[in-house]
Amino acid sequence: MNFHGITISEALKAELESMEKSRRMPHAIIISGGDGQSRESLSRHLAMWAVCESSQKPCGECRACIKAQSKNHMDIYYAKGRGKTDIIPVDEVRNIIKDSVIVPGEAHKKVYIFYDADKRMAKEGYNAFLKTLEEPTQDTLFILTAESAKTLPVTIISRCAVLNISAKESIPEDTLVLAREILKGIIALREMELMKACAALSSRQKALEVLPVIRTVLSDALSLSVGAEPLCDAETATLLRQKLTKAKIISLIDVTSNAINKTNRNVNPTILTTWLCGEYRRISWQK
Ligand SMILES: [Zn+2]
Repeated sequence: MNFHGITISEALKAELESMEKSRRMPHAIIISGGDGQSRESLSRHLAMWAVCESSQKPCGECRACIKAQSKNHMDIYYAKGRGKTDIIPVDEVRNIIKDSVIVPGEAHKKVYIFYDADKRMAKEGYNAFLKTLEEPTQDTLFILTAESAKTLPVTIISRCAVLNISAKESIPEDTLVLAREILKGIIALREMELMKACAALSSRQKALEVLPVIRTVLSDALSLSVGAEPLCDAETATLLRQKLTKAKIISLIDVTSNAINKTNRNVNPTILTTWLCGEYRRISWQK
């Protein structure tokens, strides 16, 4: 993925690249943290990525990219608000859902952007949206932006990939401790430590809290090699970077993303934990 024209952390770049490489680009993304302008520029960048006609996306130069930049691309739609508060009415959400099943006009994908969803979307709107998020059409990308993803309904968060622009959004201490234990378990000598730490993931809710943090620390470990500032846990990130090769860290990020997807798809938590534990172990121990 090309990143010219936007300023985002190395960790976020690594996360996006890993998603793109593994062809697991999500169909729904929440962009949270940072300021309004950075959220807006990242959503426009991802929309450009979705419609770009070049092989190195987004090129910023092709016909589709130029249209996307000037908000004139027919396959990129910005949800419209109404009245003083600019609330996105439920009718607008329904119209978007209806439109999303129609094939794109020019590009391979259709993109729908909901700016400031935390302030502009109401409960009815979210409810109307849920089923579509569960069973999206292949060629759709929904982007929601919010000051903090935590203010959105859990049912929505669990169906989207959350991209955090800044680390300012604080991670609860117990979540961080758990993520740290699992990460240390991955590089521990005895398998027991990893198995013990992973046991907490058998709660779906816990898994949805902890797995993204694990992925962020792994991305931090990766970005350390380019001298970037870690987003969340510098100490664990440094430790991981010392013990693991870059290729292994990338594999661990991929497997964690995969686990998040499986959790979102309601895979049995016990089966998921056993699988994930095995994958972590396999990657960390392979020659
Ligand atoms: Zn392009």
